[in-house]
Amino acid sequence: MAGEPQADCLFCKIVAGEVPATVVRETETTVAFRDINPQAPTHVLVIPKAHYPDAATLAAEAPQLAADVLKEAGEVAAGEKAEAYRLVFNTGSAAGQTVFHAHAHVLAGRGLQWPPG
Ligand code: C5P
Repeated sequence: MAGEPQADCLFCKIVAGEVPATVVRETETTVAFRDINPQAPTHVLVIPKAHYPDAATLAAEAPQLAADVLKEAGEVAAGEKAEAYRLVFNTGSAAGQTVFHAHAHVLAGRGLQWPPG
């Protein structure tokens, strides 16, 4: 069922505390933790605690929760004192999505090129 924890989902395991993560913020509905393979001095992932496979599904099925994720991304950037930052939602394998639990990448702390690779 939409939003239910998935036994084979890495980020559901992080939410459950079964896989360790360096958590920087947590709310009733979201968790933000440092990416294990950072691509910038600040690289934090913001996830909904409930399981949705990607950002578009999250926004379609749980719009308030999608808004919570975006708000938290802003709070993470503020907490990191980032004057500018990039939010990335890789969606689909060909776009680089490797974990199919919706997540926002918050990237900051270095110059970020446009267009991204
Ligand atoms: O957008 P994508 O699905 O590729 O992002 C998944 C991210 O999850 C990667 O940046 C990867 O480094 C991160 N990750 C993590 N902790 C894990 C496993 C993956 O931060 N235990």
